[in-house]
Amino acid sequence: MNLHATRKGTQLASLLISEGIKHTEVIKVISQTPRDLFVPEGLKHKAYENNALPIGQGQTISQPFTVAHMTEQLLNTPFPVKKVLEIGTGSGYQTAILAQLFPEVYSVERIKSLQFHAKRRMNKLDLHNVKMKHGDGWLGWPSKGPFDAIIVTAAAESVPDALIEQLSEKGRLVVPVGKNQQKLILINKERQAVKRDEIGDVRFVPLVAGALA
Ligand code: SAH
Repeated sequence: MNLHATRKGTQLASLLISEGIKHTEVIKVISQTPRDLFVPEGLKHKAYENNALPIGQGQTISQPFTVAHMTEQLLNTPFPVKKVLEIGTGSGYQTAILAQLFPEVYSVERIKSLQFHAKRRMNKLDLHNVKMKHGDGWLGWPSKGPFDAIIVTAAAESVPDALIEQLSEKGRLVVPVGKNQQKLILINKERQAVKRDEIGDVRFVPLVAGALA
């Protein structure tokens, strides 16, 4: 499928601009990514609203503002990001956004059926620079690291050590931390020092330990 801006995608992108999203590349990919492809049949009429939606298995597709805001953090890395790791593939919507912005995307999901459908969506959109793994995201993907940027799209109780280890020098990691009240945490790694900033309040499903069949 050839990706191009649509009327609904452009309306969603305009809404995100009004809420503070600034990066032109992010705005462009939001306007051209068919979010309706990533939501269940009965919710397609809500696909372009700025809301999280259920995708089955007790999981959700993230709110578009949050997707755009987290993606902006990765684009602000002080060198061109080549390899990105995503934890929590879910519907694959965030994955598809990343795949249009970065050369190599790696994504880990613990629920196999979600991963299966996300993979089909990447193929349908001709996004072939994504590698997916069924596994436990707490462990990252050590054999493919280090990664220039890491994004976690489920809430962790603490920042997983493995992800900090797998982050490149000067790389950026963005991760929601907390239980019900979650903070979006941005980690910068420089000369082995880890700098941590809170950059907002978010609400994600939990990052659960262990992979499921
Ligand atoms: N970015 C996704 C968000 C999906 S919700 C989207 O917009 O569709 C979070 C996802 O994280 C769920 O699919 C859930 O199964 C997954 N997840 C939770 N714990 C995990 C873990 N330990 N490892 C990998 N994936 C995990």
